[in-house]
Amino acid sequence: MSAVLRLEEVWKSFDDHEVLRGIDLGVDEGQVVALIGASGSGKSTLLRTVNLLEPIDDGRILLRDEDISDPRVDPDAVRARIGVVFQQYNLFPHLTVLGNITLALRHVHRMSKRESDAAAVALLERVALADKAKAHPDRLSGGQQQRVAIARAIATSPDLLLLDEITSALDPELVGEVLDLVRSLADDGMTIVMATHEMAFARDVADRVVFLDAGRILEQGAPAEVFGAPREERTRAFLARFT
Ligand code: ADP
Ligand code: MG
Repeated sequence: MSAVLRLEEVWKSFDDHEVLRGIDLGVDEGQVVALIGASGSGKSTLLRTVNLLEPIDDGRILLRDEDISDPRVDPDAVRARIGVVFQQYNLFPHLTVLGNITLALRHVHRMSKRESDAAAVALLERVALADKAKAHPDRLSGGQQQRVAIARAIATSPDLLLLDEITSALDPELVGEVLDLVRSLADDGMTIVMATHEMAFARDVADRVVFLDAGRILEQGAPAEVFGAPREERTRAFLARFT
């Protein structure tokens, strides 16, 4: 299997605070990797380094064997190959749902208006929101907004989808519809790295669970291993909070 993403000995500090301390992580084609760990353990920073939102201090990040941490690479070209959804504030409020999705298609992929509209409508059908194409984001529920954000993130057929606690800001009754969509993308073979506190979902959908502790990968493995029989005391203590 070919690696879509590989982090090699990645170090990242903010001032004198080491937030990522030698991260080694490989993600194969079609794999779903769940990043778990306490608040402040470095999950978001890890995802942000992959999307080149944070420069790293040491190590390498490879996207399909290309070193994207090389300062000479064009960050926009890299970001065009990576879909990202954050916890909140994903959509442009002044654009319609359709406009949010067509923006990247028109500017990154240079599609015509007709082409991009047709592609966006198909994506909205995929996320069961075709009837909201003309609406502005503030007319949608939080769950619907995140489904649009996911549609936008996959619009450019990225190599990799990064999801950073995308259900954390949602009312509990809206979490399921978003997770169901992520599950269906996983079933379709999308390569996904997601930071999440949804342990039941991670257990169910992830191929591998990675436990971050103070900027290090303390343990990782199949969900049944990490959740069922964690090797490290700190992993056990962390997981005990969710049961
Ligand atoms: P997580 O997503 O696991 O909660 P983060 O990656 O957000 O963890 O944060 C890891 C650590 O890095 C925290 O101590 C946080 O305060 C710190 N940190 C994150 N971003 C910055 C920043 N831009 N400047 C300074 N410190 C930061
Ligand atoms: Mg975070």
